[in-house]
Amino acid sequence: MKKVGFIGLGLMGQPMAINLLKAGYELTVYDRNEDKTAALVREGAAGAAGPQEVAEASEVIITMLPNSPHVLEVVFGEGGLYPVLRPGQYFVDMSSISPIAAQEIAEKLAKKGVAALDAPVSGGVEKAAAGTLAVMVGGTEEAFAAVKEVLSAMAGSLVLVGPAGAGQMCKLVNQMIVGVNIAILAEAFALGKKAGVNPENIFQAIRGGLAGSQCMEDKAPRMFSGNFAPGFRINLHAKDLGNVLETSRELHVAVPLTAQVMEMMQVLINDGQGGSDHGGLALFYEKLNSLSLKQEG
Ligand code: NAD
Repeated sequence: MKKVGFIGLGLMGQPMAINLLKAGYELTVYDRNEDKTAALVREGAAGAAGPQEVAEASEVIITMLPNSPHVLEVVFGEGGLYPVLRPGQYFVDMSSISPIAAQEIAEKLAKKGVAALDAPVSGGVEKAAAGTLAVMVGGTEEAFAAVKEVLSAMAGSLVLVGPAGAGQMCKLVNQMIVGVNIAILAEAFALGKKAGVNPENIFQAIRGGLAGSQCMEDKAPRMFSGNFAPGFRINLHAKDLGNVLETSRELHVAVPLTAQVMEMMQVLINDGQGGSDHGGLALFYEKLNSLSLKQEG
C-alpha cells in the first residue's frame, strides 16, 4: 500500500505525517485549519479540501484528532468520509478517544467492507518527530498485518492488544496509571516538605528503590524546578480521564483513585493551568498545603 491519507495535523499529526512522507508514501492530507494543511503541502503532501477527498485518494486513512466527537464528525458528520468509503480500504484512528466510540466506528465501517483499527500512541511530540512512538492497536490480525508497514514509519513499537477498542482501552489504562502516579508523587513530596525534609533529597534517596519509576524520573525534577512547560498538557490528560470515567460507568467498574485525580485536574483547569504539563498536579498540592516544592537557589 502506497497511498495514505492523514487527517488532523496538530502537534502530533504533523510530525507523524512528515515521517510518512520521508518513508516514501504518497500522502493526501487535511486539517480544518488551512495553515496546517498548507504546511504539509510545502513538505510534499497533496492537500485535500475535506475528509472525502482524503478518502477518495487513499488506501489507508489515518486520523489524529483531539477526541471522540472530532473523529465521529470526520467519519460520519456532514462532509464526513463515510459515504465515499469503498471495500478494501483501511481506517486507522491514532487519536486517543473513547473505546466505545472506537468500537462503534469499527462496527459501522465493517458494513462497508472497510477494516477499522484503533491505534493510539504514547511518547509525545518528541517521539512523534523521531518516528519512535509506542502504538497500541485494536482490531483484527488481518487488518493489523495489512497496515503494519505503514504504521512502522511512525512507530518504535507496535503491539496488537486485542479486538476493536482494545488499543483505546490500553491507552486509558496507561493514562490512569500515569495520572495517579503523578498525584501520589506530589502528595508524598508535600508531606516530606512540610516535615522539613528536602523533597529533592528524598527523590535522590528513593529513586533507585521500589518507589522509583519512569514517572518519578520525568516528573519529580519538574516539580523541583517549578517548570511545567508541556510535555503532556493537563487538558489532554483530563480528556483521557473523562473517557476512563465514561467507560468505567458503562462497565460498572469503580475507579475511585482516577476520579479523585480527575477532580484535581478540574481544579487546575479552572485555575488557568490546563495548558501546563501534567506534572503540574504538584500545583494542586502546593495550594492545598500552602507550600512550594520548588528548590531554592
Ligand atoms: P492538537 O490539538 O495539536 O491537534 C489536533 C488537530 O486536529 C488540530 O490541528 C485541529 O485543527 C485538527 N482538527 C480538529 N477537528 C478537526 C476536524 N473536524 N477536521 C479536521 N481537522 C480537525 O492535538 P495533538 O496534541 O496533536 O493530539 C492529537 C491526539 O493525540 C489527541 O487525542 C491526544 O490526546 C493524543 N496524544 C497527544 C500527545 C501529546 O503529547 N500531544 C501524546 C500522545 C497522544
